[in-house]
Amino acid sequence: MNAAEFVRQAKSGKIDPVKNTKKFLEESKKIDSDYHYFLKFNEDAPKQAKELKKGRLYGLPVSVKDCICVKGLESRAGSKILEGYEPVFDAAAIEKIKAEGGVIVGKTAQDVFGFGSFNVNVGIGYKVPKNPFDKTRATGGSSGGAAGMVQKSELPHIAISESTGGSIAAPACYCGVYGMTPTYGRVSRYGLMDYANSMDKIGVMAKDIEDVALVMEIISGYDERDSTSKDLPAEKYTEKSDSRFRVAVVKESLGKGVEQDVKKNLIAKLGKLKYEEVSLPLTFRYGIQAYYLISLSEASTNLAKYCGMRYGKHEKLEGNFNEYFSGVRSKNFSKEEKRRIILGTFARMSGFRDAFYMKALQVRTKIIEEYRQHFRKYDIVVTPAMPNIAPKFSEIDKMTPLENYMMDIMTVGPNLAGFPHLSMPSGFSKGMPTGMLIIADHFQEKKIIDFARSLK
Ligand code: GLN
Repeated sequence: MNAAEFVRQAKSGKIDPVKNTKKFLEESKKIDSDYHYFLKFNEDAPKQAKELKKGRLYGLPVSVKDCICVKGLESRAGSKILEGYEPVFDAAAIEKIKAEGGVIVGKTAQDVFGFGSFNVNVGIGYKVPKNPFDKTRATGGSSGGAAGMVQKSELPHIAISESTGGSIAAPACYCGVYGMTPTYGRVSRYGLMDYANSMDKIGVMAKDIEDVALVMEIISGYDERDSTSKDLPAEKYTEKSDSRFRVAVVKESLGKGVEQDVKKNLIAKLGKLKYEEVSLPLTFRYGIQAYYLISLSEASTNLAKYCGMRYGKHEKLEGNFNEYFSGVRSKNFSKEEKRRIILGTFARMSGFRDAFYMKALQVRTKIIEEYRQHFRKYDIVVTPAMPNIAPKFSEIDKMTPLENYMMDIMTVGPNLAGFPHLSMPSGFSKGMPTGMLIIADHFQEKKIIDFARSLK
């Protein structure tokens, strides 16, 4: 049953939202004890389900990535440093979900502040989520809890998630679900805890493309509280259009280092469709470097506010301010948070800023131009979503940080450039899902959704 069908039944009285919410929490807790998809359950959800608006999401269980603020529900962006922080307001996307009668069931597991591709970079003392198809493998990151839960749940459910450099596409791919990352500026970032402001986007994960369309339609749109929100009316994603698409597949994305089955499944998924090959040499050569320089530079300033004074963790006040906040940060930030703060601070230091940060911004502009040149000729550009199937934890343990960052080769391009993209299941390899990435020009979400429908 997809979300629209669920809502129809709830509205007609066939499904009782309160009972369903209780059942969903019970089922989720059972799953969670084995798979670790939630950081926090909303115990008030059944009570809240009593007073729902009869909107387009009436009674539907909605999970929320931990970095997106939900009023009164502990929100930590997956990090120990924010333990105890309960937002006093809802993020804009959450306001919209609630206004349509969606039930917030809990906060899902993620890499600290979104720092990762496998969801193994969890906060100090937190558990690593496991792949729904094979517990010895990763869910993908950073939104591992969201993707795992969407796949594992037998009851209708959608997940609100976030991507800076691929955090929706990667876990959606490894867990075999749909993951939509909208154009930068399409969905308000108000109430999203920043990783890298110039690239953060709120999106959605679901088992069905129609659920993606419905939720995207609801959360999109202008918001004056986010200065980068675009003043464009939200489109009717739920209305299907029969279009013909001019499709291109990126040559570099089918090259060395990409698993055979991933390539095979992608071509098979495109089926009889006509497509041409295009090249994105700059994106595939410099995308990772530019992405990590920009994202870590922004992250290092964004994380400066977590000093044990305003949000989350507090310790006994001792020593001067520097001693106090260094103590809190040393104790509560994980290794990956520290690594990224140090790298990002370095890249922004006077003397290095022009060589690293400013240069990376120039590369980003060039990358946008490189895609744009193809969007003049094609509606849709396709690559695999990830070059591989979900790796085993034992394989991840052996990766260096650089090898780890390289895994984002498919996703950093559209994320750096702010293009909308959808990860959709393309088949299986060794019992594990593979995924394909559908990319379009800015604000062309509708094209992506219609294209995905045509491949179903
Ligand atoms: N893997 C990327 C990173 O670690 C993407 C993270 C994200 O999109 N939040 O930065």
